Amino acid sequence: MTDTTRTSYSLLPAPESAYPPPGRAALHAMERALRESEAYFRSLVENARDVIHVINADATTRYITPSVRRLLGWDPEELVGRNALDLIHPDDRERVRAALSERDGRAGAGTIEFRAPHADGGWRVFEAIGKNLLDDPVVNGIIVNSRDVTERHRAEQESARLAAFPRENPYPILECDRDGATLYVNPAGERLLAELGLPGAGSLLPDEHRPLVHACVHAGAGVRGVEVRVGGRVFAWTYHPQPGGATVHLFGEEITERKRVQERLLHHAMHDALTGLPNRNLFLDRLAATLRRRERGEAGRFAVLFLDLDRFKVVNDSLGHHVGDELLVEVAQRLRAAAPPGATVARFGGDEFAVLLEEVAGEEDARRAAERLAAAVAAPLVLGEYELFTTASVGIALEAGTGEERAETLLRNADMAMYRAKGSDASRCEVFDRAMHDAALMRLEMETDLRRAVERGEFLLHYQPIVSLSTGEINGVEALLRWMHPRRGLVPPADFIPAAEETGTILPIGDWVLREGCRQLAAWRREFPRVRVAMSVNLSAKQFSQRDLVEKIALILAETGLDARHLKLEITESAVLENTDSARAMLRQLREFGIQIQMDDFGTGYSSLSSLHQLPIDGLKVDRSFVARMCEEGGTAPLVRTIVVLAKGLGLAVIAEGVETHEQRQALREMGCDYAQGFLISRPVEAAGIRALLASGVCD
Ligand code: C2E
Ligand code: MG
Ligand code: MG
Repeated sequence: MTDTTRTSYSLLPAPESAYPPPGRAALHAMERALRESEAYFRSLVENARDVIHVINADATTRYITPSVRRLLGWDPEELVGRNALDLIHPDDRERVRAALSERDGRAGAGTIEFRAPHADGGWRVFEAIGKNLLDDPVVNGIIVNSRDVTERHRAEQESARLAAFPRENPYPILECDRDGATLYVNPAGERLLAELGLPGAGSLLPDEHRPLVHACVHAGAGVRGVEVRVGGRVFAWTYHPQPGGATVHLFGEEITERKRVQERLLHHAMHDALTGLPNRNLFLDRLAATLRRRERGEAGRFAVLFLDLDRFKVVNDSLGHHVGDELLVEVAQRLRAAAPPGATVARFGGDEFAVLLEEVAGEEDARRAAERLAAAVAAPLVLGEYELFTTASVGIALEAGTGEERAETLLRNADMAMYRAKGSDASRCEVFDRAMHDAALMRLEMETDLRRAVERGEFLLHYQPIVSLSTGEINGVEALLRWMHPRRGLVPPADFIPAAEETGTILPIGDWVLREGCRQLAAWRREFPRVRVAMSVNLSAKQFSQRDLVEKIALILAETGLDARHLKLEITESAVLENTDSARAMLRQLREFGIQIQMDDFGTGYSSLSSLHQLPIDGLKVDRSFVARMCEEGGTAPLVRTIVVLAKGLGLAVIAEGVETHEQRQALREMGCDYAQGFLISRPVEAAGIRALLASGVCD
């Protein structure tokens, strides 16, 4: 231990006396006075609020007041002999050293601030004033008086920070520490808290966002648009880490309205506007998600149902679109109510709905659910003045568990099964199976073959005579299409016309039939000028979608040289229903040429007798299903009679199809029906057969 240790409790070093020794009594008095004075000063110094430090020229501590224990937690005895600068924060040390070396020790020049380490590891801020008394023979040191100003310093910093804080900003602003604890909220933020009825500033920044604040400070980079929902409102917060890395300013922008618009747009993109049900996009999303969960083994078996209303078009066309819309809305509600919990009910547009059934036990389970849905749709429905009976056909595709199903495949399979259900009288619900798949493949093959059949000349026409019931004369022939398939042989029209209509190949096929029918009759008429038969050609409803249909027919007549009066076109009720105004306009134009229009298969469609007079037609062909049952007990005779009477009243010609018996022929004649066609008279025959007939002169 050095010499200074011994003197550690003596403020003043032992003075070298410059005075003569006093007398004994005086000496005692002086000593006492000195002791008292020393005790007084010692007590003064030791109880000081400040730290008083006496430092040697080399900055070693000669003395430090015990207050250092209270203020910094250090034992004063340990500090004596150590460099006084050890008690200074490294960053402040240079400044303090410079101040100490100044002759006047900054006396009068003011104070110096530095940080001093507390024994607990923290830092305290001190303000010091020093006096350089190195030249003073009594002190021979520097006296530094340091005061703990940590609290004042903190308060000052706080107020400086607040001055820099954008208080008056209209946006709510938070100041957080690096851990996301809220330190301060501006008035706009406080107003917001009050509006939302939230307890404290911290509730504007939910806990889960705190790590982001921390990361932000750590990276020294801001983030934008951190979405936070509080009290039903949405805010986008922007984080600005402040210089120094201690705090972050968070600016909140309310985006509730923007969000609502966005969500509405998203909803629109994912939902059907009329019924509010999910649309195809959302359905496919959910289906894909279910497939993924299934692959991961997180979901059970599921099924996709495809549901299509039967005869919806009729409701729409006959009662108007608003009734159709109401019907769809009602159906949507019923489906939703009847679907098992957790199912997704979607509308794909038109009268098509799809249902995703999760967790189905198997085929029977799915079928039961499908039947429940179909039954819900089938319950009678009163819309305004109408009571409607709607049914639905449902196709079911079960996930096979092979893991290779794509959402689209499942939907297509359900769709295919739905078509099967629609086609069958027995069932409204069908489950997709292998056979359907094969049938679909065959159909696909046929569609491909159909496209080539026109070019390859695989089509031919058979002709079936139509006779006058009063005279028995052959009045005309109907051209009936046949396909001579290279492998399958002669294919009847029922087997390929639906596919041709769906794929659009019916258009080139229809053109061919028209041209061939006209060419053939023109040729016969040239060969047998006395012949008076007409040619009836069937037109598909799809052919009315061609704007140039009328021009096309005019061109064919011109090319083949057939007189328009010798051509009859057979249309179906759906041709007029599906195309309404444009179809009617076309029919009117065709009639102006002199072509006659006949409504084929009358009675099987949905056009009512009462609307007949508005249609631009010349005749009706009574469907053969009515003719077939007209001679039965309780059969269709009254119906056929009504049709005949009504048609005659409207000035329309009536042709009976499918006449197979003499009895039918007789009954029809008695009813006043004009013409008959059927196996009784002749089956459809090849052109040569008709030519022979014409050559025989019976048609002259
Ligand atoms: P459709 O226009 O009603 O033609 C009459 C159908 O009834 C023909 O069948 C004919 O063979 C059949 N038939 C005639 N008499 C009798 C009979 O006494 N008893 C029975 N059971 N059937 C009889 P096909 O030729 O199979 O034609 C079926 C349907 O295919 C036609 O019905 C028509 O809708 C359509 N079709 C035929 N050719 C064409 C065509 O060139 N274009 C279009 N778009 N459709 C056609
Ligand atoms: Mg026909
Ligand atoms: Mg017919």
